[in-house]
Amino acid sequence: MELDLLPLNLPSDLKRPFVIAGPCSAETEEQVMTTAHQLAEKGCHMFRAGVWKPRTKPGGFEGNGIKALPWLKRVKEETGMLVATEVAKPEHVELALEYGIDILWIGARTTVNPFAVQELADSLKGVDVPVLVKNPVSPDLELWIGALLRINRAGVRRLGAIHRGFTSIDQRIYRNTPMWHIPIELHRRMPGLPIVCDPSHMGGRRDLIAPLCQQAMDMGFDGLLVESHCNPDAAWSDASQQVLPDVLDFIIDRLVIRNNAEMTESLASLRKQIDEMDTQLMDLLTKRMRVSREIAIYKREHNMAVVQATRYNEILDKRGAQGSLCGMSPDFVRRVYEAIHEESVRQQMEIINK
Ligand code: PEP
Ligand code: MN
Repeated sequence: MELDLLPLNLPSDLKRPFVIAGPCSAETEEQVMTTAHQLAEKGCHMFRAGVWKPRTKPGGFEGNGIKALPWLKRVKEETGMLVATEVAKPEHVELALEYGIDILWIGARTTVNPFAVQELADSLKGVDVPVLVKNPVSPDLELWIGALLRINRAGVRRLGAIHRGFTSIDQRIYRNTPMWHIPIELHRRMPGLPIVCDPSHMGGRRDLIAPLCQQAMDMGFDGLLVESHCNPDAAWSDASQQVLPDVLDFIIDRLVIRNNAEMTESLASLRKQIDEMDTQLMDLLTKRMRVSREIAIYKREHNMAVVQATRYNEILDKRGAQGSLCGMSPDFVRRVYEAIHEESVRQQMEIINK
């Protein structure tokens, strides 16, 4: 299933990725205008502010709603920046368009719900406005793609995705774990779709914004959506992850933008080495499976069970320790051996059941 896309055509400077910046929420007219003028002075072309705020629990600041829309209109008139806000219901789409909002995004808590996304898609029929779809809170690529398809089938061709990380039970560093392999797979499946990184909701902390922006650039993301506030500590929502416009400018200015298109000779030679090593790895894996099948014959002759828990644990522990001595994360090595063991068990079962 493919997307029918047009270029997003969002404004950016030559050396920089496109950046949409602004506060988590439009709190007061003064906060919106002060932040917007500070960002515009730093050369920012696009302003974000949440008008309707989806909050995990009741009781938090849920946004000013329609009252904040004229403030965004004022931002547009006074600074020339394009303005963006989150929509979660058809009524939001209607009001946002009425007030001239230029870019709409669908939040992570909405993308999870196909009913809500379909209602939004229906309300977007015949509307030519760029729409950015955040990943769903759960690490479910199909749900993300499903939402993009629904919006696209409504005729929205200026479409993009926003990667803001995923809820995880064992999160340590990040508010929402990046799981970079998911947006990378999205890019593989839908190569023409622009992907934007939201380091603010991913990191949840100011000090993680710069490294996450750099990581996103290194992975070839097209743009950034960053929360910036004129007085971050006093923010009514997401205070710990917002930065001053000055700080944001500093961060963006120091990003190293690498050239993805050009493949130099030295890169080609390094890739050749990787190809050769992968061939060796496959060769070794094949040999390992062969020995594993011989073990299956032994187990069958001696009436032994296929999975020997103590042996399996020993392999996971030993290889994990070896892996960390070699500079790899024990967790990674564990996952690799779990996969190898699974295939090994599958092949042994075939022999035992013959
Ligand atoms: C936001 O951008 O302010 C927001 C609510 O984000 P998310 O949907 O990613 O949680
Ligand atoms: Mn926020």
